[in-house]
This record gives sequence, C-alpha cells and structure tokens, in this order.
Amino acid sequence: MAAVFLVTLYEYSPLFYIAVVFVCFLVTSGLVLGWFGWDVPVILRNSEEIESSVRVSKKQMRQVKNPFGLEIPHPAAVSITRGITLTPDCLENCILTCYWGCSVQKLHEALRKHVYCFRIKTPQALEDALYSEYVYRQQYFIKKTDKEEKYCQLPEDAQIAGFGPVPRSRYPLVALLTLADEDDREIYDIISMVSVIHIPDESYRLPCRILYQYLLLAQGQFHDLKQLFMSASNSVPPLSNASGESSADKSLLEKVGLAEVESDLHDENSKDCVVCQNGTVNWVLLPCRHTCLCDGCVKYFQQCPMCRQFVQESFPLCSKKEQDQDEPEHIFQDVPHGADF
Ligand SMILES: [Zn+2]
Ligand SMILES: [Zn+2]
Repeated sequence: MAAVFLVTLYEYSPLFYIAVVFVCFLVTSGLVLGWFGWDVPVILRNSEEIESSVRVSKKQMRQVKNPFGLEIPHPAAVSITRGITLTPDCLENCILTCYWGCSVQKLHEALRKHVYCFRIKTPQALEDALYSEYVYRQQYFIKKTDKEEKYCQLPEDAQIAGFGPVPRSRYPLVALLTLADEDDREIYDIISMVSVIHIPDESYRLPCRILYQYLLLAQGQFHDLKQLFMSASNSVPPLSNASGESSADKSLLEKVGLAEVESDLHDENSKDCVVCQNGTVNWVLLPCRHTCLCDGCVKYFQQCPMCRQFVQESFPLCSKKEQDQDEPEHIFQDVPHGADF
C-alpha cells in the first residue's frame, strides 16, 4: 500500500519532493521541540527549562556563630619597630594573646594537634603546643563587645629589626583569641581564632595584613577564613584596602565554605545585584567567592558574571526562612576538614 502510494507520488515527481521535504521538516521540528524525548541540544527552549538545566549545585551549609573578630585599624602605621594596634571585636569576654616571631612549623603542628585531641581553647594550650618557639608574648583581656584598641609592640631591648628573607621560619605576629569564661566555651562551636599577621620590616616591606585566619572548633576541626568579594553599590562605601582588611572577619568565607554574615547585610546595608540592579545580593559563587547575585538571578548563571569563572557551587548568605526570621546568621558549611579547592 505504502509502496503504491510512493510510486504514485514518484510519478508526480514535484509532489514527491514536496512530501519528502515536508516529512524532513516535521522530523526536524520534532527534534527541536523535543517531541521524541531525545535530549538533543537545541537553541529553542523556554525559560523554565533553562533554569532547571543550568542550576548549579547548592552547597550544604551549617550555621555557626563566631564570637571572635579582629581588625587592624591603621595598617599603614604598622611596622616591626613601631608595633601594631589591634581592635578585637568579640561577642563575649575574651583573651587576646599576641606571639611575636612565632615559629611557622610549631604553629602548624599546634593546629594539627588541635585536630587530634589537644584542643586549643586557652592561651596556655597554645603555649604548650608551641614549646616557647616565639620571641615575645603579650596578653590582653578583652571585654565583651568593647572595641578598645590594643597596642602591641616588641620590647625595645629585643633588638629585632626583621624576621629575615622569605621563606621564613617565623611569622611576625600570631594573635590568638580565646574565650575567657569557661561557660562560654560550652555555648560556641568556635572556641578560638588564630590570626597570622604580616608586619612589614626591613626585608619584607609589603603592607601589614592578615595572612591567615583559622577558626578552631570545639569538635577538633579548624577552618581557614576567606574573604567574600561583595559587589559594591553606590549607596554603600566600597570596602577600601584599608577597611577591607579590617572587615575581613565580618565577611569572610572559610576555605571550605565558611562564611560569617552580619545581620546588617540584608537590610539598609544590602548591596544590589549586578545583573538586575534591583535584588539584594545574596549568593556566593564558588570557587571565585564573588557575591554579586540576587535570589532571582542566580539560577541563570553557570559562569560568574564578574570574572567569567565557571561556578562549581553556590550558597546563599541567608536562606528565605532565615530572612523571614531576620536574625543575624553565621553560616557554616559542613565539609570534612581538609577539603580544598
Ligand atoms: Zn538580580
Ligand atoms: Zn567571580
């Protein structure tokens, strides 16, 4: 029957070609519109399908409250001879211990010890782990939410003008923040913060800055804090280099995804999304750490709109539920220690 039909068509050859072209057209349309259920990459898709196919995996986060904050108010004025001013900003009474010329190896051994069993929750614990491998030590009591400046300096008679050329065996300054009250150590997951601070000297004149900040957890992990790169809008003064460092521990992202977020992030201080210029910035893109997209726009991007890096994972600064509660949130991602990207 079909053969007879084709032969008949063939006799009227123009009609045959028209039919062939028509069948081809139908098959192509079918492929494009996905009638056959094959996943053929085509251009025409409606917007909902784009959302689902482009969505980047969302990182699982856990919230923790970080009681510690440390700022360097005048980084330009810091030097090995003039000393450094530190402004701790803590939620509880704390102890700030500064170790000048702290051994790099001993500090990292101490952090490793913390992971195993020897929890560093008091200055004495770090002291024991360092085996006095430091040049000079200073200690201050920090009152709760008191942002008093603390001045640290090597003693005059130390006669130290620098810690030699890089790579160095000693960090210029290590600042340890620990909770002063025994009871507070039960409340917080984060029991201490170790900040490694570069201080310019004769051999290494780069300006003062925080090199690393490690948050030590009661359960034994420690996490490296990393800064988030927020997109700045006109209404908010952009983070300058000077204040960038000082606000480092306010908007930081831990190496494996830890971020601490202040409550003012999502009210008057909130920044606008770089794409729609309207929504509040809420999404952190990894691994580039640009924080520039709102809830509405994040689903359309596989690449970061600021640096074009492919987004491997993303997480919100505050999820919808938290926004409703309007609580300050400290977000923390639950990843086994040692993960790296
Ligand atoms: Zn947007
Ligand atoms: Zn980026």
